[in-house]
Amino acid sequence: MKLVILGPPGAGKGTQSKKIVERYNIPHISTGDILREHISLGTDLGKEAKGYMDQGTLVPDSLVLSLVQERISRDDTKNGFLLDGFPRNVSQAVSLDAELDKLGINLDKVINIVVDPKELISRATSRRVCSECGATYNVVAKPPKVEGKCDFDGADLITRSDDKEETVSVRIQVYTDQTSPLIDYYKAQGTLFDVDGSQSIDEVTKDIFEGLDK
Ligand code: AMP
Ligand code: ZN
Repeated sequence: MKLVILGPPGAGKGTQSKKIVERYNIPHISTGDILREHISLGTDLGKEAKGYMDQGTLVPDSLVLSLVQERISRDDTKNGFLLDGFPRNVSQAVSLDAELDKLGINLDKVINIVVDPKELISRATSRRVCSECGATYNVVAKPPKVEGKCDFDGADLITRSDDKEETVSVRIQVYTDQTSPLIDYYKAQGTLFDVDGSQSIDEVTKDIFEGLDK
């Protein structure tokens, strides 16, 4: 199971990714998570990436590519992997294909979560993240049991710094301009299938599993 999950900001990629990696027992490779980890550790890469991320624009390809190359060549990817947030543009997709070619593998499926663009701003700005464990919530679609507190550890929930409305609009525009061409790219490869992301979380998961088990 070598998979990519695509979808605009606020489509629920992170939530669905957790369920997919549990079911197929494969690592979740989120370039956004890896970059945020670098920022919190204060690495050089984190320092370089932070400005782009705060603005909602893409970090330069070269920085992200080396991260992904290193990550997919680790031993735990033998059963496969789920790439979430990568590739983000056609040039990254071409580089990924070249890298997979070198490793003698190819992508099995690309999951495309489709959401009405009019809904995206409110979906993305209602996201909350646990300040301790990183669990994600949505004040509308997936609220915590106690307002503002994580279900798992009771820690405070915060708004990700790039989930502010201005930044979310930039991220949606970046998605439209740079990432959405990947839909045609993977359609041409015959690996992509669409999932209606406007359904409930469980319904979306069910459609994804059906598409993957085909
Ligand atoms: P995400 O958590 O996937 O929404 O990513 C958060 C931010 O990290 C994005 O807005 C970009 O600034 C950066 N980022 C994550 N993945 C990539 C990527 N593949 N290429 C470039 N920038 C990325
Ligand atoms: Zn937590």
